[in-house]
Amino acid sequence: MSGTYLGMPSFPEAARDAVRDVTLRGNLRRATHTIRDKRAGAVAELDDWGRLREAGKRIKDHTLRHLDRYLVQVEEAVTAAGGTVHWAADAAEANAIVTRLVQETGESEVVKVKSMATQETGLNEALEAHGIRAYETDLAELIVQLGKDRPSHLLVPAIHRNRGEIRDIFRSEMSEWGRPAPEGLTDTPAELAEAARLHLREKFLRARVGISGANFMVAETGTLVVVESEGNGRMCLTLPETLISVVGIEKVIPTWRDLEVFLQLLPRSSTAERMNPYTTMWTGTTDGDGPRAFHLVLLDNGRTDTLADEVGRQALRCIRCSACLNVCPVYERAGGHAYGSVYPGPIGAILSPQLRGTASDIDASLPYASSLCGACYDVCPVAIDIPEVLVHLREKVADQGGKGHRLERAAMRAATWLLDHPAALTAGERLASKTRKLHPERLPGPGARQWTNSRDLPDLPAEPFRDWWKKNRA
Ligand code: SF4
Repeated sequence: MSGTYLGMPSFPEAARDAVRDVTLRGNLRRATHTIRDKRAGAVAELDDWGRLREAGKRIKDHTLRHLDRYLVQVEEAVTAAGGTVHWAADAAEANAIVTRLVQETGESEVVKVKSMATQETGLNEALEAHGIRAYETDLAELIVQLGKDRPSHLLVPAIHRNRGEIRDIFRSEMSEWGRPAPEGLTDTPAELAEAARLHLREKFLRARVGISGANFMVAETGTLVVVESEGNGRMCLTLPETLISVVGIEKVIPTWRDLEVFLQLLPRSSTAERMNPYTTMWTGTTDGDGPRAFHLVLLDNGRTDTLADEVGRQALRCIRCSACLNVCPVYERAGGHAYGSVYPGPIGAILSPQLRGTASDIDASLPYASSLCGACYDVCPVAIDIPEVLVHLREKVADQGGKGHRLERAAMRAATWLLDHPAALTAGERLASKTRKLHPERLPGPGARQWTNSRDLPDLPAEPFRDWWKKNRA
């Protein structure tokens, strides 16, 4: 994964400021509760939701088990339809391929459809380093880009911003990137949307290169699918002469019949819509219609390592609907930035440490960024057992021995020695009983002190149990 967020502090440290930010918490609470309630209503309309969910899970598991075969099928089908397929082992290779492809067109700007894969690789920054400007065209991504901000939600990357903040960003930043915000812009949704529409339209009409991800790739025909709500995707996917799609290898599904299942699961889980407003599908190139050149960059970037883990691989089923974020009590309070990755919330807590490994502070702390309440598993449309993977990853982190775990291990070693030496144990117990009046009521250290702020430490008896036993039962 891109190193953009690496070097971040651990999750609890990064979340500390966010939980104190009253505005942020208010914005998040309002937005997540609205989406979660609507989703529940949309799902309740279908009496076969449970079976759809099981079908989605099985299709994904089957595809992941035979990923090698289906990826080759995608490559053959895309090539036969006039496209070119590139394989990228990691973020750096994907960025180098895309940069070269854009340079070969002679262009210095591109329009982008919202894409998690290119955020994961840090593509915009890589293009910028080569003098190529990437324009985000999804409304929320535009807000993030203009505000020099970072996304904090899978589906609504600017969920941490309210309307007033968005108006201020448009007023002060739009002119730097193209058409300025209209005079006297207010914070009404219609005016903000119109300002974005006017700003983006000139970019759609000028751009000769488009960059996208894809929600699904259908192996039997090599067809790519993007679902979206604003129509910006349709513009980016059809108007430019060259289209480059960067897609994670886990996005493949075998057949169109399988697609039917996901086109029901995804919109209801993400935006609570029965059907998303725009579904764009394309297969290679077609004379006189759409882009004349199509490149598909298949991205690994830690996915095959994730696939090798029998428990963790279920994270690759994810269809990025964001339902798990909207119900997560930790996400609601900490916000998305604290997760230090383009993948926030419960799915981020299990995906990022698998894609990037657990060497950094932030990645080693992510499996602990959960209360294990299980709400994420209940809403997941492909039944990813996120709590199970979190516990599995905690075990891995503990095995590799972080700072906290070294202390725990030292304490366990001391306890082992003490229990192996009964005389020392007896002497220690007597000493503890004799000095019990001197013991503190709260444990030392910030974490332990907080824990004992709301709990009483048990009283030590005046006499150790073994002495009592000898006296009374001998
Ligand atoms: S883990 Fe499940 S609920 Fe969360 S984003 Fe992925 S598919 Fe949606």
